[in-house]
Amino acid sequence: MPATTYEEYTVKINQFPEDVRPYLIPEPRGLMVYRCLGCGEEFDIARLLYTCPKCGSVLLLHNKNKHLLNDVGGEKWRKIFDYRKMLNHTAIKGIFRYYEFMAPIIPLDRIIYLGEGHTPLVEANDRLKELVGLDFYFKNDGLNPSASFKDRGMACALSFINYLAEDESMGNILAICASTGDTSASAALYASYLEDFLKSAVLLPQGKVTPQQLSQPLGSGAKVLEMPGVFDDCMKVVESLAENYNVALLNSKNSWRILGQESFSFEIAQDFDYEVGDKTIVVPIGNAGNITAVMSGFLKFYKSDVIDRLPKIVGVQSEHADPVYRYYQVEDAHRRNFVPVTVQPSVAQAAMIGNPVSMPRVIELARTYDNTAGERKIFVVQVNEQEIMDSMIVANRNGNIACTQGGESLAGLRKAVEAGLIKSSEVGVLDSTAHILKFSMFQEMYFNNSFEPAFKVTPKPELANTPVQIHPKGLSRYPSSGKPLSEDEMGTFIREMTAEIARVLNLEEK
Ligand SMILES: *Cc1c(COP(=O)(O)O)cnc(C)c1O
Ligand SMILES: [Zn+2]
Repeated sequence: MPATTYEEYTVKINQFPEDVRPYLIPEPRGLMVYRCLGCGEEFDIARLLYTCPKCGSVLLLHNKNKHLLNDVGGEKWRKIFDYRKMLNHTAIKGIFRYYEFMAPIIPLDRIIYLGEGHTPLVEANDRLKELVGLDFYFKNDGLNPSASFKDRGMACALSFINYLAEDESMGNILAICASTGDTSASAALYASYLEDFLKSAVLLPQGKVTPQQLSQPLGSGAKVLEMPGVFDDCMKVVESLAENYNVALLNSKNSWRILGQESFSFEIAQDFDYEVGDKTIVVPIGNAGNITAVMSGFLKFYKSDVIDRLPKIVGVQSEHADPVYRYYQVEDAHRRNFVPVTVQPSVAQAAMIGNPVSMPRVIELARTYDNTAGERKIFVVQVNEQEIMDSMIVANRNGNIACTQGGESLAGLRKAVEAGLIKSSEVGVLDSTAHILKFSMFQEMYFNNSFEPAFKVTPKPELANTPVQIHPKGLSRYPSSGKPLSEDEMGTFIREMTAEIARVLNLEEK
């Protein structure tokens, strides 16, 4: 059992400055409520709620004990987070390093930590910086346990469910989600950790997730249900299930997930020594939960003086799934009208969503964000499939591990620079939302020039890469399993192979 009390840590904590010591191991002191974005009504968190029982709109979580955050002051918070970094305390090792800003009602011993958060911030090399005309970093959220950023929100949502389940009268819980692949991988992983009272089922659009993404919930032991249609259709079915049956919904309609994903912003702030006024955060938009969380996270840090300026945020959408982009195309805020789109095939499959559930949250938070900053800081740009693929391949040929959505971030950054939304003195921070290995099939299509016409992607020949078969002709035998070559045959084989490889690689003899 990890230690959870102040006393168990006194030896180490005693070496820390006296003024931060009492804050290092946090205690539940929050007072959280769901607040409806439609009618403003507040609801008790004693039960899981996804939409407003009064008006049906989406919810966000609010901490009514906010004064506790403000009383501490920005300088002390920065110190607390920086010292917490040195603590080996499981519960606050991940996203809950920022406990007070997240869900300060969950006792530390109910927090689930599977290694999420604190993902590397990797500076782009000079070649990439030159290409874009800007200094920038990738924040590699593909290095989370299930290889996408979804683990941040899931760690929070499942910790909350784990806390609720303390009350044994809750009984067994079935957690359910619709997914473009990564939500289900993450939900299944975290649910499998809580096996004794929690089972999970995931609903996927058949053929619209990659084989790697499909293998993840299967491996975690979740019930995997494939259905016809795209994500938007799965989402409707899952919503109907959550309305009519006793299930815990793990989609980002679940506002505990948004809360956990705010850690992405908190980490960026800490990673840059809390100087984010000159930064532009770039995130792909699908269901719009992530950009909601990113805005909300920075706003919270700003309002509590942890940061003194807000960064810009650029959302990116493919032209094959761009309802949020279209919404913001209308300059006059009063004349904007959200219209869902029918998606077309996109390599940014995890963001291939035509009717984002979090749109009301985005509208509300973007308005608040810009008003708080006193200037426009939230932008949405559109990129095409070709730009996404080219950007992903180029990123990865320069030491990164970007998936198609990470490629979308880079393509979006380039768009934003071209459009003059970012000055060359500013610094980009790109959300690399998942690991390339989940999306290697798109890399393969690019290298083999095998995209369906609907994607409208033509690979650049100079970026293609395929394995070269080395098979010197004229040998009497080649190695095969269980049939070893004789010594002579092996000698010939090695000689011929070496010569052939030297020829292919153009090697000079010593
Ligand atoms: C879910 C997901 C997105 C889209 O995030 P939203 O919160 O749905 O907007 C982007 N990239 C990856 C890899 C994802 O899994
Ligand atoms: Zn309401």
